[in-house]
Amino acid sequence: MSEPFTVAIDGPAASGKGTISRAVAERFGFGHLDTGLLYRAVGVKMLDGVDPVAAAQALSRADLEDEARLRGAEAAQAASKVAVIPEVRAALVDFQRAFARRAGGAVLDGRDIGTVICPQAEVKLFVTASAEVRARRRYLELKDKGSDTTEDEVLADVIARDERDSERATAPLRAAEDALRLDTSHLSIDEAVAEAVRAVAAKYKAN
Ligand code: C5P
Repeated sequence: MSEPFTVAIDGPAASGKGTISRAVAERFGFGHLDTGLLYRAVGVKMLDGVDPVAAAQALSRADLEDEARLRGAEAAQAASKVAVIPEVRAALVDFQRAFARRAGGAVLDGRDIGTVICPQAEVKLFVTASAEVRARRRYLELKDKGSDTTEDEVLADVIARDERDSERATAPLRAAEDALRLDTSHLSIDEAVAEAVRAVAAKYKAN
């Protein structure tokens, strides 16, 4: 089937949405776009002295390649700072929407996919977990990559980003009314993925 089919997966930092998105994309053969990476790339440009609006308007695939830097805590904080700028968000809309309607299906994960970027998405999930559980996950992930950050620092980072993402005026983090909520605090990765796959399968078959 090569019709467009969009799965929108939103949620706060380290909720598990990235892992779930990749697994859903693989299971159904859909493309996957981690939209956080776009904001991280703009954030890193800002750290390098580029005006964030100009950076967003000129963003290219090459800017998404330095994953090690883009995945770091500094890039995350910078991302959530540039993400409050309406012109930055506006510059990234068309690329995300085009990806969402690509032939063969797409999974996009972020903060505003079900509410702003793809309000017509065939499936919407809102993935959450407590701040402590999310900080623990992100801490273990960063430690694994050799970072010497502490769990308390990661928790403070998660809480600061939650606040900035939820309280900004443009496209704040919130669940779409018709999103299926998935709290992963007490779920294993496999259980969370299974729930998401079930939700997508129910709609994909019917399409
Ligand atoms: O998902 P990730 O942690 O990589 O996102 C980094 C930051 O980018 C978020 O904290 C948020 O401020 C911003 N973001 C956003 N809208 C999206 C995706 C990410 O504002 N769709």
